Amino acid sequence: VVRLDKVNKHYGPLHVLQDINLEVAKGEVVVVLGPSGSGKSTLCRAINRLETIDDGEIYIDGKKLPEEGKQLANLRADVGMVFQSFNLFAHKSILENVTLGPIKVKGMKKAEADKLAMGLLERVGVANQKDKLPAQLSGGQQQRVAIARALAMRPKVMLFDEPTSALDPEMIQEVLDTMVGLTQEGMTMIVVTHEMGFARKAADRVVFMADGQIVEQAAPNEFFTNPQSERAKDFLGKLI
Ligand code: ATP
Ligand code: MG
Repeated sequence: VVRLDKVNKHYGPLHVLQDINLEVAKGEVVVVLGPSGSGKSTLCRAINRLETIDDGEIYIDGKKLPEEGKQLANLRADVGMVFQSFNLFAHKSILENVTLGPIKVKGMKKAEADKLAMGLLERVGVANQKDKLPAQLSGGQQQRVAIARALAMRPKVMLFDEPTSALDPEMIQEVLDTMVGLTQEGMTMIVVTHEMGFARKAADRVVFMADGQIVEQAAPNEFFTNPQSERAKDFLGKLI
């Protein structure tokens, strides 16, 4: 579903993505781990073309990601993204936050969008909050709305960039549970997280990045019990 071919990006002198090759199959769950500054967020943003890349190609469902234009908007709709900060529209209700994309981008009728949104809000457990504003919800609830909003576009892949790191501890689990639910429904996912429990339980593959490179990748059990590179051993050694 997602393929990166020799993707490179620089920020001035910093080579932040170095010859990144990555293929994610349909239904596969890839967890990206790595120290701070290794390029994980840049990778996510590149896949969504929120960042330009210097060279290389990114394919979503076999289609090359264009630089801009309507085609980009269409392809981007195939990639749902959930960030650390919830980025909900502050002045719109929870329901409107979820229906906006389908109505604006996909031209869906309001009644149909409402129905779709309610189903998704139900699924992430916040349907009873539909008329509130984002600020009236807890962080965990807001993040689940952000997931529902991304799902409303019927994405082919979901990208998560540290979706739980801004949350209070007691809210982390409800978001992780929602994500585990998605994996069980067969969603293709790329997840940057520091939640090793999630990586162990839900990942089909762990991709370990350091200094802009994919240093190693393996099944979670293999990666956690028998990391190959010094960088990965060092990284795992620092976890509590
Ligand atoms: P973290 O775990 O802290 O979120 P990360 O792996 O997501 O780290 P990135 O945010 O991708 O790392 O950043 C990779 C490198 O690129 C860092 O050294 C960062 O300082 C640098 N960087 C990120 N965004 C920019 C930017 N807009 N301009 C210049 N440098 C940037
Ligand atoms: Mg990051």
